[in-house]
Amino acid sequence: MSWFIKKRQQKIAVEAKTVRVPEGLWVKCEACRELIYRAELANTHNVCPKCGYHFRIGVDERLENLMDDGYETLFSELQSADPLNFVASKAYKDQLKRLKDEGQDQDAVVIVEGTLSGHPVVMGVMNFDFLAASMGSVVGEKLKLGAERALAKKCAYIIVSCSGGARMQEGTLSLMQMAKVSAALAKLDMAGLPYFSILTDPTTGGVSASYAMLGDLNIAEPKALIGFAGPRVIEQTIKQSLPEGFQRSEFLQAHGMVDRVVPRDKLKDWVAACLAWMLPVREA
Ligand SMILES: [Zn+2]
Repeated sequence: MSWFIKKRQQKIAVEAKTVRVPEGLWVKCEACRELIYRAELANTHNVCPKCGYHFRIGVDERLENLMDDGYETLFSELQSADPLNFVASKAYKDQLKRLKDEGQDQDAVVIVEGTLSGHPVVMGVMNFDFLAASMGSVVGEKLKLGAERALAKKCAYIIVSCSGGARMQEGTLSLMQMAKVSAALAKLDMAGLPYFSILTDPTTGGVSASYAMLGDLNIAEPKALIGFAGPRVIEQTIKQSLPEGFQRSEFLQAHGMVDRVVPRDKLKDWVAACLAWMLPVREA
């Protein structure tokens, strides 16, 4: 009968072996799992000094990396509406209000005008912290206005993309932004003004299917995830396993979808060199 009696297991005390890390002082690299001193990351543009992994960075840091001092923010008054009265797990208007209360009052893209190594440019930087940088009406409108500003100023236009795709909370309206921004970019093309697309991790969905791939130069940060649908969806659809590194910058460069993979610390100089080649330096 002893088989049926549950014997009390002797508990073995396991000493916690985890090393307590002072919060905020160290960061664990998502690629190589090494601990990195946070102050060190500030010197490397948030790139892991051990393996070169590019951490995702915010809009302010991106602008600091790419633009010269003294740039001006444009079209910040535009705010998303809630045209569909969208309610899924959370009400869209509550999400927008919460983000605004947190100080995110620019929707998912910030447009600035200024200079990049002396070259006048208009630049749009997408903000992943705002609903995964999803492309809604305001994102599309601001990017279109940015293109028109570059056209009026006869300067280059640069969009730094990262996005989860179209903003489902705005339904079809968000899909229409793909065509609207693409049409505005076509006007720049007709005027002979350069448009550079900088693709960062992750650039997916409707953004990758429109303006992010329309650059005169499509430049990507190393190992960024770039694609339309996720790899699992593709595998299930085509019933084949995908090759190693599929949908990463290097793979796209090897297959002609991206012109150049440029590390973050070289990005500004590289863009400036291309601008110098395409446009003469003028007084800002
Ligand atoms: Zn690393």
